[in-house]
Amino acid sequence: MDEMRTKESRRPANVTKHCGFWDVPTEEFAAWLTARREPPMRARQLRRWIIAGRAESFDQMTDLPRNLRRALAEEFEPLSTRIAHHSQSPDETHKLLLRLADAQSIECVLIQENKRRTACISTQVGCGMGCVFCASGLNGIARNLTSGEILEHLIRLRNLLAADQRLTHIVVMGMGEPLASLDALLTALEIAGSKDGLDIGARHVTISTVGLPAKIRRLADLGKQYHLAVSLHAPNDELRTRIVPTNDKTGLKEILSAADYFFERTGRQVTYEYVLLQGINDSPENAKELGQLLRGRRAHVNLIPFNDVSGLPYQAPTSAALTSFVDQLHTAGVSVKVRKRKGSTIDAACGQLRRRIESENQPPKLHSLEAV
Ligand code: SF4
Repeated sequence: MDEMRTKESRRPANVTKHCGFWDVPTEEFAAWLTARREPPMRARQLRRWIIAGRAESFDQMTDLPRNLRRALAEEFEPLSTRIAHHSQSPDETHKLLLRLADAQSIECVLIQENKRRTACISTQVGCGMGCVFCASGLNGIARNLTSGEILEHLIRLRNLLAADQRLTHIVVMGMGEPLASLDALLTALEIAGSKDGLDIGARHVTISTVGLPAKIRRLADLGKQYHLAVSLHAPNDELRTRIVPTNDKTGLKEILSAADYFFERTGRQVTYEYVLLQGINDSPENAKELGQLLRGRRAHVNLIPFNDVSGLPYQAPTSAALTSFVDQLHTAGVSVKVRKRKGSTIDAACGQLRRRIESENQPPKLHSLEAV
C-alpha cells in the first residue's frame, strides 16, 4: 500500500500546504515523522484512523500525542476534500459534490440496492471526451484527479453508511475518462482493494471507458479481475463519431478488438453501455446493427435511457422504442438489460449537480454576449 502511494500520488500543482494525507508521498511523510522523532508506525496508525476509524480530523485520533496531532493539523488534512453539497433521493441514492483543495469540484454517488452498496466515482475534473449527451464534458477538462482524491470519494461515500455497513462495489463511471487517468485510478483501487483498506476486491470494480484501445490492453495485461464496461452508444463509426467525437481517432474496430483482448486475458465478459437518445440511435435498424456487431462475442449490453440534462436537446426513447430495441438484441442472441434509473430526483446524471451548483454560485453577469 505504501509503495503504491509513493509511486503514483501527486498533489495538484497549486496545492502545497494542508495537503491531503493520501497524496503525501510515503518517503516524504516518513521523513516528516523522523524530523519530529516520531516512529514510522504513526503512518499506519493514521491510515487506520481514517479508513477503519472514519476519522475526519486529527483531533479524533486520540491515541496520537497531542503535539503530533497539532503538528499534523498545521500541515496536512486527513481528507483534503470538503462536502460542498449532499443530496439524497427517496430511493436512498446519495450524491455528493466534493470541493477539492484547489476549489475545483467533482461528483460521486452512493447507490444502495438490496445488500449492495455501490460507489460511483470520478477520475477527472470535467472530461475531455465531449460525448454530446453528457453534462460532465460540456466545459471540457480541468485536470486529472490525484489517487488520493479518487480514494477520498470512496471514503466520503463510505462514511455516509452506518458503522456496521461497508461499500461492496465500485463503478468508475462518474466524471472523466477513467483510462485517461489510469495510474492514479489503479493506485486508489489498490488501496481500496487491500485488506487494511476498504477491502473491495477487483471483481467488484467496474471501469468504464469510451474506448482507449492501448489503455484497455494495458488494463487487460495487469492480471486483475476488474470488470470492463465500454461505452459504445452507436453500432457504426459514422453515428458513433457524431455522439462520441473521439471515435474518429479510434474507430469501433480497434475498440472492439481491444475489448476482445481484455476478455481473452481476463476471462471477464465485457459490458457495452449504450445510452439511448430518442430519434438518434434508438431505431430498430440501430438495434439490428448492434446485434450484428456483438454477435459471437461474450458481451452484455446495458441500455441506458437518456437521463434529461438541462441545456441539452436530447430525450429518452419512447417505451415502444425501448422495448423494440431490447427485442432486436434478444433476437440476435445478445444478453441485454435496461439500467434502472436511480436517484432521478437529485441530478444523478453525471456532471449535472456540478453544473447546477456552479451556475448558482456564478456572480451575476453584467453583460449578455449579445450586448458586448
Ligand atoms: S460520458 Fe463519460 S467519457 Fe463521455 S464526456 Fe461524459 S464523462 Fe466523459
